[in-house]
Amino acid sequence: MHLMCLVQRTKYNDTALGMCVPWRIYSDHLPAPRCTKYGVRDTYDVMSRHSQKIIHSVGIPIATSGDVRGRYVRHVRDHGTNCVMKIAIIGGGAAGLMAAAAAREESDTVEIFLIEKNDSLGKKVIISGGGRCNLTTGVENTRQVLTNYPRGSKFLSKAMYAFPPKSVRVWFEDHGVKVKTEKDMRVFPCSNDGRDVVRVFEKLFQQTGIKVLFNANVIGITKRDNGFAIKLKASKNALTVDRVILTTGGQAYRNTGSTGDGYAFAQSLGHKITDLAPGLSALQTKESWPARVAGLSFPTARFSLAGDPKITCQGPFIFTHKGISGPAVFALSSLLAFHQLTPERPVAVKIDLFDGVNQDVLLKRIQFNASKYTKKSLCNVLAMLVPKTLVECMLDDLSLEADAQIAAVSKKDLMRCAAWLKAVPLNISSRVAGDEFVTAGGVDLAEINPSTMESKICPGLFLAGEILDIDGFTGGFNLQSAWCTGRLAGKSAVDV
Ligand SMILES: Cc1cc2nc3c(=O)[nH]c(=O)nc-3n(C[C@H](O)[C@H](O)[C@H](O)COP(=O)(O)OP(=O)(O)OC[C@H]3O[C@@H](n4cnc5c(N)ncnc54)[C@H](O)[C@@H]3O)c2cc1C
Repeated sequence: MHLMCLVQRTKYNDTALGMCVPWRIYSDHLPAPRCTKYGVRDTYDVMSRHSQKIIHSVGIPIATSGDVRGRYVRHVRDHGTNCVMKIAIIGGGAAGLMAAAAAREESDTVEIFLIEKNDSLGKKVIISGGGRCNLTTGVENTRQVLTNYPRGSKFLSKAMYAFPPKSVRVWFEDHGVKVKTEKDMRVFPCSNDGRDVVRVFEKLFQQTGIKVLFNANVIGITKRDNGFAIKLKASKNALTVDRVILTTGGQAYRNTGSTGDGYAFAQSLGHKITDLAPGLSALQTKESWPARVAGLSFPTARFSLAGDPKITCQGPFIFTHKGISGPAVFALSSLLAFHQLTPERPVAVKIDLFDGVNQDVLLKRIQFNASKYTKKSLCNVLAMLVPKTLVECMLDDLSLEADAQIAAVSKKDLMRCAAWLKAVPLNISSRVAGDEFVTAGGVDLAEINPSTMESKICPGLFLAGEILDIDGFTGGFNLQSAWCTGRLAGKSAVDV
């Protein structure tokens, strides 16, 4: 029996069809439906798209449209067996949490195992955004959102349109986490506590019977004729399931559990892993002068590569003891993720501290101050534009006398100062080791179906989150990609 039903767009999802069999809602009134390998049998109602009324009924009617509270009976398949389909989700980070929730939204009967090697869920979610969890972006335009992924944006498009940032915000609000969008478009829980984001899932899993296995370290996955065997470190017997969703993350911040194990599993199932590199890290400079201004920050500046002016990014940054850091620098580090950075062959960058101000205009400002305060030193006149400590570094770099009386400084030297402020020259010699936020590279996207997140190499295997060759800039884009790919994988694993 194939029961075709449903169907309406949901509030979280622009493209996907309907939701799950709303069994739990009715369980007080009705006998349990019979479970089949891939869903529920004897499930009953077909709803009209527009009126939301039951238009066709098989077996016992289970509800009127008013009762379903926006949930709709969906396409239910009977594969003629009496087994319940089993799905294992490996990795309880952002992608795995959302995949489990979505699979359950899609089917109340599928048996879901969420396997996590830590003794708690979502360790990285909790520490993200400095503990506040920048869970997505406030940018509304999905096309614009997609420009924030140096790798993987084209592939991500389907998942992103299906569950864009706005839907993520609504989803969390619907599940009891009030969110706020800050001036820079970062979205946080109003509580400023990442734990609230994870609690949503813990509660949901408890209520919906998702089996969470803690301290369960997966050490191998084998494809069988009609499913998979999952080998756990602490158990002699493998867990056998019909489908696997691999959400083991990348290999950044390994103390959170993301140790890159999933790459080996994906490889063993036939997948190619691209080169891997740290993304979103602070950068070390060959020059030592940034240490003299460590802590000095700018709300905005434009970075570009001296050798390739097309590589550019803009945003806040800060000087550190080793070089530079902050959102614009993280973005730059992502763009340089696969560049070899060494002290012998550093990459030359320029920082425009006066983005949007023409160099001639800047020179005129300096000249205006110089003509007004003729008795001041060069250093003090320039300090009217940028902090004095930075001016001192600049004058050392340009070999100019800080104490020279401004009236005696040539126009040529003032022009050199203006040019320096418009293109502070620095040589990037390395990444600051071990502090990257994400892993650039991952499972080759050519081998994954972007409409379902299912492997093209190994049917029944789905992948989502940072394990894929997708990485975003800071601003909530990495969690956004984990939520939307996780959701698509969770829904598809039940459906496809
Ligand atoms: C310090 C920090 C701050 C960040 N802040 C933000 C932010 O504010 N906003 C943003 O968008 N992004 C942020 N990111 C990036 C973002 O957190 C990640 O990209 C995202 O969490 C990835 O989700 P994931 O589910 O793919 O992987 P992870 O969150 O890495 O989850 C993978 C899970 O799999 C488990 N696992 C791994 N191997 C096994 C195994 N063999 N057996 C069982 N379980 C296993 C791990 O224990 C882990 O729980 C931050 C990252 C870091 C490190």
